[in-house]
Amino acid sequence: MRRVSIFGATGSIGQNTIDLIARAPESYQVVALSGGRNIAQLAVDARRLGAEIAVTAHEELLGDLRAALRGSGVAAAAGTAALTEAASRPADWVMSAIVGAAGLAPGLAALQQGATLALANKESLVTAGALIMGTAARHAARILPVDSEHSAIFQGLVGEDFDAVERIIITASGGAFRDWSLEDMAHATPAQASSHPNWNMGQRITIDSASMFNKALEVIETKEFFGCPHEMIEVLVHPESMIHALVGYRDGALMAHVGPADMRHAIGYALHWPERRPLPVERLDLARIGQLTFRDPDPVRYPALRLAHEVMRTGGLSGAVFNAAKERALDGFLEGRIGFLAMSEVVEEVLDRLWGENGLINGEMTLDTVRRTDQIARQVADQVMAARQ
Ligand code: NDP
Repeated sequence: MRRVSIFGATGSIGQNTIDLIARAPESYQVVALSGGRNIAQLAVDARRLGAEIAVTAHEELLGDLRAALRGSGVAAAAGTAALTEAASRPADWVMSAIVGAAGLAPGLAALQQGATLALANKESLVTAGALIMGTAARHAARILPVDSEHSAIFQGLVGEDFDAVERIIITASGGAFRDWSLEDMAHATPAQASSHPNWNMGQRITIDSASMFNKALEVIETKEFFGCPHEMIEVLVHPESMIHALVGYRDGALMAHVGPADMRHAIGYALHWPERRPLPVERLDLARIGQLTFRDPDPVRYPALRLAHEVMRTGGLSGAVFNAAKERALDGFLEGRIGFLAMSEVVEEVLDRLWGENGLINGEMTLDTVRRTDQIARQVADQVMAARQ
């Protein structure tokens, strides 16, 4: 029996992970499940999977969680320290699928106890890539990518020498507004941005897909995970979302990963790695699909991609600034405080202001300095948004 934990169990990735695990309950001992506000779902899954502990991120919801778990034998806990404690419990495989920078500390704790970390939480690598990769190396813990593009790159590298890689191309669907005019994008509402043409995902990543902030995070994630120069990474708009990434080798070959837009593929690959086991995903009928199309991303519509390269050039803690400013700008958009296109303007202004701050961006990278930088960037983002109103 493999001991597994799922952080962000109530979300889109978490529920897809549970779907796979629940198909073979005899193979897994569930250690910890975590959620945020969706206590009912957390309790239902913790009961049916027989988890040792269920944790909500919100201390004020502990009473509700305890009540929902009464008589089940599942322990209940709440708060950020409880999340980290749960991630420290011995497990063979830990899914990191909390959304946002909140996923960093539990992911680090899982690596410190030597678990294999299935990493969906891209923000961990964006905010603290060197810390995450260094912690994994120090504790001989493995990280397996769950983001579909990074899983595709990982699979495209099997049996190959990384020195022979010339370029890495990650694809982007173009999100909800790929065929909208800039003027229409300026007036887009959160409801319009929350509907993805191909993927069924959490609301925040769906809106980040429409703005390409998600792709910007993924470009940084690629650099941090594979340790390649940022100039090597390209983005290609591919509206059908069937090729997830391509690895280009120095002999001119491009190894493409083709698969359905179903996260259970990448999750299942990380769950069963290094084996390939049958997965309950659609088998593509390429003759029926007929054609796949590609185009370059428009830099005017998607400034987030340019900002990502600036962040990678600067390095240090600038990823933490970028992610925190992006998270606050997204909050601002969801709350109706700023428009859709203003999100990238806010992030750029926060970066400009903090790049001038001596020692902030180039300081040492520890969990504390990443957290401090995150807090400062959020405050500055709030100031920038307030000044625009
Ligand atoms: P969801 O919004 O669907 O789920 C997020 C999960 O995190 C939920 O369990 C939520 O709890 C929990 N959560 C929210 N805020 C906090 C917090 N402050 N502290 C602790 N837990 C919290 O997100 P997704 O599943 O879409 O995405 C999860 C991660 O995976 C993200 O980093 C995303 O970028 C990445 N990812 C997602 C993909 C997808 O297809 N969805 C694809 C590739 C990567 P609750 O809902 O109970 O409040």
